[in-house]
Amino acid sequence: MGYTETRIGTVAPMEIFRAPRVSLIARPQFIEPEHLPVHWLGEASDGERLAEYAGRLCYMSQRNPVNRTTAEYLENIKKQGHGSVLEHAVYVLLIEGISRSCSHELVRHRAGFGYSQISQRYVDESHAAFVLPPAVAGDPKLEEEWQGQVTAAQAAYVRSVEGLMQRYEWVTDKVHRRKMAREAARSVLPNATEVKIVVSGNARAWRTMLELRCGEGAELEIRRMAIAVLRVLQREAGALFSDFEIYVGDDKQEAARVAYHKV
Ligand SMILES: Cc1cc2nc3c(=O)[nH]c(=O)nc-3n(C[C@H](O)[C@H](O)[C@H](O)COP(=O)(O)OP(=O)(O)OC[C@H]3O[C@@H](n4cnc5c(N)ncnc54)[C@H](O)[C@@H]3O)c2cc1C
Repeated sequence: MGYTETRIGTVAPMEIFRAPRVSLIARPQFIEPEHLPVHWLGEASDGERLAEYAGRLCYMSQRNPVNRTTAEYLENIKKQGHGSVLEHAVYVLLIEGISRSCSHELVRHRAGFGYSQISQRYVDESHAAFVLPPAVAGDPKLEEEWQGQVTAAQAAYVRSVEGLMQRYEWVTDKVHRRKMAREAARSVLPNATEVKIVVSGNARAWRTMLELRCGEGAELEIRRMAIAVLRVLQREAGALFSDFEIYVGDDKQEAARVAYHKV
């Protein structure tokens, strides 16, 4: 943890993230219609049941003629590439401890996703946390240099907000004045500034994102985030994400490969 000067001259600890925090905050709730039930086999979560239910509706195979468990049924769905039935299961994650550059890459994933990200226009970033790039982590000299750089950027932000608040003193609405100051001052914040983001995505969309971002070609921070997301989703709905295998790549960082490409 580093230190940053506050406006009243005291020293406050600067929070530095070395890993993302991923929390599942919403999951599907399946409500089976009494008039059209499925003959279920095996344990499953609501999201997995929902996907199976949608798939079985296509062929009216609710009787489960080949006696498949939900896990076996969904394995076959993924193998066949019948991914549209996975779109019904939506999982919402709160992702914290990722940098602004990482969230910028994340929000490029459009189909099937929704995002709500912390606003740097409204939120004071004077005490923002920062995310240490994985490539820098573990080298004391590089870490110290990096910390000096983000500390300087944060100090520049604080000075910029103060200067802009004075410049626009004539704006009587204080909330608006603060917004004017912060939206301009944020231009000097580094890409490493931590963001919090709520991401909703259906299982098919998550799978596509994970395939692209867990791979060894992906940038290290988003890859680390994607692996953390994968672990949460595998724990929640194994049958929808079980064909992803986590391994250690040639660069000694975790990566994951998928058995069924882009279902
Ligand atoms: C290793 C890596 C390097 C990258 N480097 C760069 C870079 O240098 N510069 C840069 O700008 N971006 C870069 N990107 C981002 C990349 O170009 C995509 O924006 C990002 O991966 C999202 O992928 P997507 O569009 O397939 O995802 P989504 O938007 O989630 O789309 C998923 C799928 O839906 C379909 N789809 C979505 N929208 C449409 C549409 N409008 N029309 C037709 N089909 C659609 C496509 O099949 C698409 O693959 C990089 C990504 C990776 C993984």
